[in-house]
Amino acid sequence: MKKIVLFLFICCIFISGFSDGFSIVRIYFKDKDELNNIVNFGLEIENMEKNSFISILNDKDIDILKSKHKIEVLSNADSIFDSFRGRDIKSESVYHTYEECNKVIEELVKDYSDIAKKFVIGKSYEGREITGIKISDNVNEDEQEPSALFMGAHHAREWISIEVPIALAQYLLENYKTDQSIKNLVDQNEIFIIPIINPDGVEWSMKEYKYWRKTRRPIGTSFGVDPNRNYSYHWGETGASSSAWNDTFKGEKAFSENCTKALRDFALWRKFDVSISYHSYGEDILYPYSYSNTVNAPDHDYLKKISHAMAEKNGYNAIKSADLYPAAGDSDDWLYSELGTFAFTFELATSFIPYDTQVDGICMKNVDSAIVLLEKIPEILEYKKIK
Ligand SMILES: [Zn+2]
Repeated sequence: MKKIVLFLFICCIFISGFSDGFSIVRIYFKDKDELNNIVNFGLEIENMEKNSFISILNDKDIDILKSKHKIEVLSNADSIFDSFRGRDIKSESVYHTYEECNKVIEELVKDYSDIAKKFVIGKSYEGREITGIKISDNVNEDEQEPSALFMGAHHAREWISIEVPIALAQYLLENYKTDQSIKNLVDQNEIFIIPIINPDGVEWSMKEYKYWRKTRRPIGTSFGVDPNRNYSYHWGETGASSSAWNDTFKGEKAFSENCTKALRDFALWRKFDVSISYHSYGEDILYPYSYSNTVNAPDHDYLKKISHAMAEKNGYNAIKSADLYPAAGDSDDWLYSELGTFAFTFELATSFIPYDTQVDGICMKNVDSAIVLLEKIPEILEYKKIK
């Protein structure tokens, strides 16, 4: 009997054709209640539309969800990811590994030492430095200037989110001498760019397991926490999982991860006026709150206005984060509520991993949007003063 069951099981794997057992699926929901139900299952959400969204699920989870919700299997996830690279990231790819990203930072600092400086906010669980580049005049001093933070790769497999902050650093430095408006932005602000918040996850995703999203700390027999569910504001209330096996695991407690702790302490020290955290995908600009679709941020209307101004440059959809779907414990809600940072999330691109040939275009229009945010800083500070 056991042999027959085993035989049937192997047949099922064969018939499904998905050797790795992961598929890209579209999941449909009728209303917010059904959406919340699905979200509480602990899966990630991409490309949200009115009554459906995209996710990556293994066969087992598809079967469980299928009994209650409408699911359409779009493709084998392997075929999508493998069309960009195999298990090892190809050196000729435009995407930067952790090591390559650090090299870019070091080269930029060498070439523009008068306005660029490397900094490290802490170490990951596996001991990798979480590295950034500061761009400002008098770069070695901590000046009393407005400050901006740009971050990529909270989520390991969202590789395009590493490229936009790198492109922003390059753009500011390369145009400093020739473009007076860029020079003004650099001179008048302190700009901090951290392309990879979660280096352990990125390494794992690029070199071992392409679907990896979380950090890499061992937790029981599983690994990793979703760092963008690990910040403390309304931690764990919505859209986050309590199971370490899930992609949106919130952690045993808020700030359980080295990378979120490091970012927290760095932000507490510098108290950023504005920030953008890059993710993918969906072509959205999200503003606080993320944790609740019934509570609006005190500065809701103004945050919305700034989002729309940025969206004019990249053509994205500007929306309150929780209106896309509620997810508590993200960096924006914490930065905004704790420090008053006007914090935004960009869901870049229209696919999990855009083709190499698309990367430049995505970077260019999103650098333009980031420049808009920098240009708006005086107006934002004025608004904060009189509100
Ligand atoms: Zn993400």
